[in-house]
Amino acid sequence: MFIVPERDIADLMTREAAFDAVEKVFAAMASGDAYNFPVVREAIGHEDALYGFKGGFDRAGLTLGLKAGGYWPNNLEKRGIINHQSTVFLFDPDTGKAKAMVGGNLLTALRTAAASSVSIKHLARKDAKVIGMVGAGHQAKFQLRAALEQRDFEKVIGWNFHPEMLPNLEEVASEAGLPFEAVALEGLAEADVIISITSSFDAILHADHVAPGTHIACMGTDTKGKQEVETALLGKATVFTDEVAQSISIGEAQHAIESQILRAEDITQVGAVINGTHPGRISDDEITLFDGTGVGLQDLAVAAAVVDLAVAKGLAIEVDF
Ligand code: NAD
Repeated sequence: MFIVPERDIADLMTREAAFDAVEKVFAAMASGDAYNFPVVREAIGHEDALYGFKGGFDRAGLTLGLKAGGYWPNNLEKRGIINHQSTVFLFDPDTGKAKAMVGGNLLTALRTAAASSVSIKHLARKDAKVIGMVGAGHQAKFQLRAALEQRDFEKVIGWNFHPEMLPNLEEVASEAGLPFEAVALEGLAEADVIISITSSFDAILHADHVAPGTHIACMGTDTKGKQEVETALLGKATVFTDEVAQSISIGEAQHAIESQILRAEDITQVGAVINGTHPGRISDDEITLFDGTGVGLQDLAVAAAVVDLAVAKGLAIEVDF
């Protein structure tokens, strides 16, 4: 089997490879070639940690495996390592033999950014010029970098619950040579594309903060109880997701489903748009909303891509297992 340690991922993986891997696996999910296994997530009663598994099988890409990991809140303070820790394990679908073990921390940020980026490619208006960010933490920087590659954006605007974190967004905007402006939530109406990526448990973005024709990628809500967007906005929007089962249970749509503003059958997998079986955006005034909940198959897809890159460059560690 091959080992690709966390320390090598940054030099091997590219945003383009992550984008391609995630776009392909979303397409495979929508055509029924790939499916995710039920997610396990447990409070293990040690170090206040949340630990779990996200897995799946992609028959088209022949990728089988799981991501194991979670959140250790004391890591940074006690040990100087990041609180989110994960590792991806890939197996040979023909034999069940372990195929690869891959550091999953950076890959998680890259695959999450790739997901919103895929949604922007397929759902945002082609003439989108202003991108708005809600959130300015670790993931937000990855999200913005990937999104900026999808349209000819001319300006970045942003709002964050903790305004002192906004320079994170300004840094990414200036890397791309774009101006950045901190705005009030009402100011987000200027945006053609909005990404929300926070750990909020209350709606931040309201329906009247969003102009007609906007594409919104809701990326922060990945757990029961979290919320970034007012339910009325899901009522007004055409709603897409990575996986409907997760969208209605742990994603942004959970609240709109509970309050009967939205039905599960109103939500479309973005893979259907990629495959051409759903038209996606049909008018310039339509609000499209992508509920990116984060599925195990995304992790497996980017891990498989990085193993290929590591093998090609002679950097994968091979062990007899
Ligand atoms: P982070 O701690 O670096 O940043 C947290 C962000 O949330 C900051 O912008 C912060 O200001 C904001 N925030 C914190 N408390 C808030 C509150 N009460 N109200 C509004 N905003 C608040 O975290 P991160 O690594 O950037 O992760 C952000 C979110 O993304 C988390 O909720 C995480 O679970 C989620 N996430 C989702 C996926 C996915 O696939 N959908 C993948 C990875 C992370």
